[in-house]
Amino acid sequence: MLTPILGFIAVLAPLLFALAWIERRAARQREEAARAELDDARNRGSDQPLAQHPQIEALQWVGCGLCVKACPAEGVLAVLDGVARVVHGARCVGHGRCEVACPVGAIHVGLGALALREDLPLLSAVQESSVPGLFIAGELSGIALIRHAVAQATTAVDEIARRCNGRGGRDPVGPPTAGHEPGVVDVAIVGAGPAGLAAALRAIEHKLSHVLLEQDTLGGTILHYPRQKLVMTQPVELPLIGRLKKSEYLKEELVELFADAVRRFPIRVRSETRVESIVRDGDSFLLTTRNGGGADEVGEVRAHTVVLALGRRGTPRKLDVPGEELPKVVYRLIDAAHHRGIDALVVGGGDSAIEASLALAGQPGNRVTLSYRKESFFRLKRRNEERIAAAQASGRITVLFRSEVTAIGSDAVTLTVREDPGTSVGVHTGTRAVTLDNQQVFVFAGGTPPFELLRAAGVAFPSPPAAKPHAAKPTRP
Ligand SMILES: Cc1cc2nc3c(=O)[nH]c(=O)nc-3n(C[C@H](O)[C@H](O)[C@H](O)COP(=O)(O)OP(=O)(O)OC[C@H]3O[C@@H](n4cnc5c(N)ncnc54)[C@H](O)[C@@H]3O)c2cc1C
Repeated sequence: MLTPILGFIAVLAPLLFALAWIERRAARQREEAARAELDDARNRGSDQPLAQHPQIEALQWVGCGLCVKACPAEGVLAVLDGVARVVHGARCVGHGRCEVACPVGAIHVGLGALALREDLPLLSAVQESSVPGLFIAGELSGIALIRHAVAQATTAVDEIARRCNGRGGRDPVGPPTAGHEPGVVDVAIVGAGPAGLAAALRAIEHKLSHVLLEQDTLGGTILHYPRQKLVMTQPVELPLIGRLKKSEYLKEELVELFADAVRRFPIRVRSETRVESIVRDGDSFLLTTRNGGGADEVGEVRAHTVVLALGRRGTPRKLDVPGEELPKVVYRLIDAAHHRGIDALVVGGGDSAIEASLALAGQPGNRVTLSYRKESFFRLKRRNEERIAAAQASGRITVLFRSEVTAIGSDAVTLTVREDPGTSVGVHTGTRAVTLDNQQVFVFAGGTPPFELLRAAGVAFPSPPAAKPHAAKPTRP
């Protein structure tokens, strides 16, 4: 009897030992990879969260890693030294799946120390900033997710309606009703992402006159999601439309839902209209706008109240070169499949520029040149670094380092390229002009954050370490 048991143990023990050794080695490799990723994130600044993110109570943590597995965004969390750590904090969009997955309640998703950050405006419980009548909704407030954007915008417009009702209602589309200043809308909404759209729908519901000003086109950050991305909306209740039927939508479905809202309801949206300043002028606000789309016209909008729904991505930085106003110059790539058989110039050296170049080079008939003003790429995702090096080596993409666009024509672009000091004998020898055939220019030169617009409008931010006093008793949303 003993012999078979001993035999069984003799076989099983080395097997278990081998399995434990393999698992330990795999865990060590995972940990090393996570540590390298954290260093990388710190170098690129993507360790810093933009909005709500996981707060981890290390003492309670049991080391199961379920939170890491539950996160739908790549690389936000990793296990390091046996504890979950935030690695790419900037990639967290606040779904909170990690919080739900944690069996011991060691994770809470919130703003944490961000509450004292200087880029989160002080807001009242109804989303009003320190400037009376100027409200802030959506991700600009520091809270991500579509459902929060919609809820905050609805709260802000409800408050505006409550105040406007004291002055009488408005016809949402017709001329201002008697007793109101002509040419002054009840609410100017800036930014047509989920927050701006919800604000406009709520304004119509309340019969407030409104205008929705958008520097680009309707959709906001959703337009920048990768193609066919599954968007988790959780319970979202859009004014006039009601509760969204599903909890997950493809990006394209959500964009269509927005477009349908504009067809069905009298939303007064002005696309390609960037708001450049907001000042109080008597008892209304004066918004200065600049119209894109080639016209580059300056305009004005007057409003009794303002809802800022600018998000946090900012305004794409321009090249400021002749020809940039041509319609072939764009600041995003939504779907590379729409661009085939063209000479494309991509400008920039970050991950977005690299990813756009690779996607364009993957389309039939495209000839892609990437222009970057520096000597070499740095702070790229490792995968992008490898892929661009391979594309360059195989000739699929031409990379012009130390180059800057000087002029854009209808079917060509001109750049200056500084000589590589490494290849010339002695000192740096100057620049040469390069002209390339071109049908489309994609610029990824970063963005100007929206906070300057807010500061110039007088919106208060906390000044660490102690928050400044605020008349409207500000609370964090
Ligand atoms: C990769 C990724 C995946 C995500 N996945 C999800 C998800 O699955 N589920 C979810 O709920 N959330 C997700 N989010 C978060 C969600 O997209 C945002 O929280 C939401 O879009 C914020 O809406 P918003 O209206 O506040 O801002 P935005 O959507 O950013 O819209 C702001 C708008 O303001 C415009 N604007 C800015 N400045 C000006 C100006 N000066 N004048 C005129 N217009 C201006 C911009 O052009 C933009 O259209 C994700 C985010 C990212 C980046």
